[in-house]
Amino acid sequence: MDSHPRVAPNLVMLGPPGAGKGTQAVRLSRQFGIPHISTGAMLREAVHPLTPLGLEVKDLMERGALIDDGLITRLVFDRLGRPDAVAGFLLDGYPRTVPQAEALDAFLADRAGLVIVEIELSDAEVLQRLAARMICSECGVNAQDDRDYATCHDCGGRLVPRADDREEVVRKRLEVYHAQTEPLVGHYAGRPAFRRVDGARLVDQVTTDLVLEIQEVLARWE
Ligand code: AMP
Repeated sequence: MDSHPRVAPNLVMLGPPGAGKGTQAVRLSRQFGIPHISTGAMLREAVHPLTPLGLEVKDLMERGALIDDGLITRLVFDRLGRPDAVAGFLLDGYPRTVPQAEALDAFLADRAGLVIVEIELSDAEVLQRLAARMICSECGVNAQDDRDYATCHDCGGRLVPRADDREEVVRKRLEVYHAQTEPLVGHYAGRPAFRRVDGARLVDQVTTDLVLEIQEVLARWE
């Protein structure tokens, strides 16, 4: 069913926490044959060893605050330099501040242009969705919408709430999103390759819209 177009996109996904970026990113990376690079997942993996830096990052994440621009940028650029990301990639969770977006533009100066998609969702929807979200304690994947099971569909691990999905932390993450990440929309909105979709619909409908929007941008570039 997957169809890889001739041009693989350099894709950036924007949207508040809980908008469905992670879920859609898994689908889009398969559809376009590009690696899914999730900074949240990279960080959650990297903070396992209890080093002082790991503990500092874990604490920031559990409070819903952002990691230092320089640190996260080094992690992301290191990942984008690997061979599988040279012909296209999907960034989920980066950039999250205007300085990160400026660093990314400079880093990609010699590569194909960015396609930026924003998934929109109201604060009320975000709070409702994240109150119910479960993730796998083993592989970190989001559990699917159907909540009739207690273990991960992918690896059989136990499902648990995410440490930063407690309501007070979600409120903090939304505050950080509006203050620091929303200005990114201004950074990108004037570009012809910026697209916005409504995230308050069924997962499949959002995927269909995203694929159409991305293909439309790519078709102009071919
Ligand atoms: P996410 O899984 O994308 O919601 O990210 C979880 C947490 O990781 C965020 O609340 C931040 O603490 C941290 N994080 C992820 N990406 C970034 C980024 N680009 N800049 C700063 N902090 C980040």
